[in-house]
Amino acid sequence: MNQSNAIEQYLAILGDLIGTQNKEIPLHEPLFVGNEWEYVKSCIDSGWVSSVGEYVSLFEKKIADFTGIPYVVAVVNGTAALHVALILAGVQPGDEVLVPSLTFVATANAVAYCGATPHFVDCNQKDLGIDIAKLEHSLSESTIIKNGICINKNTQKPIKAVIPVHVFGHPMDLDGLQTICEKYHLTLIEDASESLGSYYKDLHTGQFGKIGVLSFNGNKIITTGGGGALLFTDKKLAERAKHLTTTAKVPHPSDYYHDEIGFNYRLPNINAALGCAQMEQLPKFIDKKRHLAQRYIDAFSNRQDLYVLKEPLGTKSNYWLNALILQTPNRSLINQLIEKAKHNGIGLRGLWTPLDSLPMYQHCPKMDLTTTYDMFNRTISLPSGPSLGNLL
Ligand SMILES: *Cc1c(COP(=O)(O)O)cnc(C)c1O
Repeated sequence: MNQSNAIEQYLAILGDLIGTQNKEIPLHEPLFVGNEWEYVKSCIDSGWVSSVGEYVSLFEKKIADFTGIPYVVAVVNGTAALHVALILAGVQPGDEVLVPSLTFVATANAVAYCGATPHFVDCNQKDLGIDIAKLEHSLSESTIIKNGICINKNTQKPIKAVIPVHVFGHPMDLDGLQTICEKYHLTLIEDASESLGSYYKDLHTGQFGKIGVLSFNGNKIITTGGGGALLFTDKKLAERAKHLTTTAKVPHPSDYYHDEIGFNYRLPNINAALGCAQMEQLPKFIDKKRHLAQRYIDAFSNRQDLYVLKEPLGTKSNYWLNALILQTPNRSLINQLIEKAKHNGIGLRGLWTPLDSLPMYQHCPKMDLTTTYDMFNRTISLPSGPSLGNLL
């Protein structure tokens, strides 16, 4: 079968499933059908739109209750949350931090903000998360432990931490990674930006390391406009995060006194208000997304040449974004499919360009990234917004 035939067939399947709307179907869009307007309006009516107001702590409590992770600190976006997480993990200029090459650029940028260097690791085919066996092999070959610190023998720099990403909401092998972290003295920071509502062995993602991170950007499963959160099981660390993200101001009724260089990373009250309303909708959004995922899985189940990515065994995914995986890498097919789908009003996207190939990260240390490039040339993301779940 030639390429254009294949593309026509994929488009027909997608068209049957979602293509009969009279507006363009985006890859993802927010859905505001709850108390969003009421809560945001109450901020505007009261004047409490910024750094004071009740919605921030309410939003933090709603996230803690939902995830079962006891301490939550809301911040301006997921990137800022990653930045602070790395500072709290003690990452310093000159350190290396293990980061997947296959992730949104923010994961690596946060490392660079600390003056540290991302050290890129490969993904596996199964869930697009870090390839545990390959990481272990690479660390055993290229590092030594000196005074309890993992040193990269090639660069002589300390490797301090690792940031796994639950790509598209699918939890990666956290047990395997925890074992590696113990053996190599690495701090685990979970980038759970895409996995609010995803569980690894019945526990919500974001609590398997020292710190977890969420994002509430406009394209995530819930949104605050822009926003993020830090997740902790340790109360002291959470208090330190709150202090650092609120300009390190020492509480006092009248004085401005700050005891270190803090960040203005606090989530504004008006954004938290939006978030409170969205959290009320989250269980429904997850149901819709899982339903939509099953529809995609069924629609493509007869094909030999591609499949829809499924949640790994022992996990429950929020299916934030659905992905089609080609059996064989084919960049030109992906590009043509995206282009043609656009003409049919269907928003498809490719995967992130592997970060090690971006100009600012080309010089960074990395392990063999064969699977990352393989999956980059095999993966297409499918429209997955919560309102799509409504139409089915
Ligand atoms: C969305 C996202 C982030 C954070 O993004 P912000 O826009 O800063 O909230 C970080 N990592 C991953 C993998 C993401 O998808």
